[in-house]
Amino acid sequence: MPLSATQAINNLPDLGAPDLVEYDRATEQQLGRAFTQALHTQFDLINDPETLNYIRQMSYQIASHSGQQREFSFYVINNDSINAFAGPNGVIGIHTGLIAKVETADELASVIAHEIAHVTQQHLSRTYEYNSTQGTLNSFATLIAAILVGMANPNAGVATLMGGMGLNMEDQLKNSREHEKEADNVGIQILYESGYDPHAMGAFFGKLAKESQFNALQVPEILRTHPVTLNRLAAAESRAQVMPPFIIRNTPNDLTLIKLRIAALNKQLNQVARKTLSADERCYLDNLQELGNTFHQTQLNSSAEKLKCLVNAAEKNMMQPLYSTLLVERLMQFSSRNAKNTLNEYVKTIKQLIEYQQDIWPGNLAVRIRHAELLNTLHQPEQAMQVLQQGLQQESNQFTLNNYLAQFADNAGKQALANYYQAQAQLAIGNYSRALHFIEQAERLNEQNKEGIAQQINYFKAQNQDKIRKPSKNN
Ligand SMILES: [Zn+2]
Repeated sequence: MPLSATQAINNLPDLGAPDLVEYDRATEQQLGRAFTQALHTQFDLINDPETLNYIRQMSYQIASHSGQQREFSFYVINNDSINAFAGPNGVIGIHTGLIAKVETADELASVIAHEIAHVTQQHLSRTYEYNSTQGTLNSFATLIAAILVGMANPNAGVATLMGGMGLNMEDQLKNSREHEKEADNVGIQILYESGYDPHAMGAFFGKLAKESQFNALQVPEILRTHPVTLNRLAAAESRAQVMPPFIIRNTPNDLTLIKLRIAALNKQLNQVARKTLSADERCYLDNLQELGNTFHQTQLNSSAEKLKCLVNAAEKNMMQPLYSTLLVERLMQFSSRNAKNTLNEYVKTIKQLIEYQQDIWPGNLAVRIRHAELLNTLHQPEQAMQVLQQGLQQESNQFTLNNYLAQFADNAGKQALANYYQAQAQLAIGNYSRALHFIEQAERLNEQNKEGIAQQINYFKAQNQDKIRKPSKNN
């Protein structure tokens, strides 16, 4: 449901002083924090570890070639419009509709590189500065609201900016066209440096424009926010032409499997063209379908049959962890139905497969989470938590990992510890008032239940004392 501008403004956290005209580092971080909170409370964010891992690994790899050492965070929004956006402080959102639409990883990478370029070129703060100097946009809330509304409905976004500022429409569009051109130029360079096909950007936008040219009502969101002119396509293509042949990467093609996962999340697996899939991919689809089934006890055997092909696929594709992580999900399903025969038959093989994947992909969020889930299913919550804790060094997955840790601690009957991890999760997304709430809960429960984590709690409070202070003006 698209937000109205007023709703978006009313739902924003208190941002403190609203009338600063500068947009410095501290301001940008504050804006980024408010934006991240808004994303977590008002948008349908994808939590699927496999999808997050895919998008984040690809995006951080591209961002590492942006030539800038700065903060980035990447989120996937469950929204079937074809779109992506860049918010303040390097917060980038990618719609599931975009992932479903691209045909190659290069096409997806090209849109991500374009958004990363908006960040490195500071387009948002330059727009803000530009608008401020026009004496019109004077509050952070208006800016964030414009971005949030724009994500759901880009025309409304522009209208909000206009309405709030009395700006001349032509000036505004000229500004954004300049920015789009610059994001294309810089984005293609970043795309190329990170080893993707630089032709993919022009090709993807060109394809979208061609598809929608006879249907004005079905112009993808991304084309509304990124007006494609012949000029823009030609410029993108000629830039790509002058680059030497791109490096062919030898990474597994997981895009097809990730698309299947997104289709499964939205209960659209029956719309997938099976003919275009390989035998292993079809097996992956069948098992995803089974995962969504609430089959009866009598159907356990036929469902277990499908598990066999997945075990084979996982053993055959040892460099593709997605088969092994789905195996764990399936095994948990059988465990929850108390299907002892199937469990006994497969548990050893699946445990070996996921441990192997954990060894070769230590940075893979999905492998780590599924490994921990398997241990938890096997009644080893302590070991499960240990596996997750080892992943916490990675800045980008703090929220997800701490949420799982909280869940496992709760399963193990450690309520104080569960609240402690909730506090860590909220801290990671900049929701300091929630973090304070949870750490106080943890403190109270720890005294009551004698869980022995006082030291951990005190350390947390000391480390974050300026953030989780009792709310004055900044929450
Ligand atoms: Zn753009």
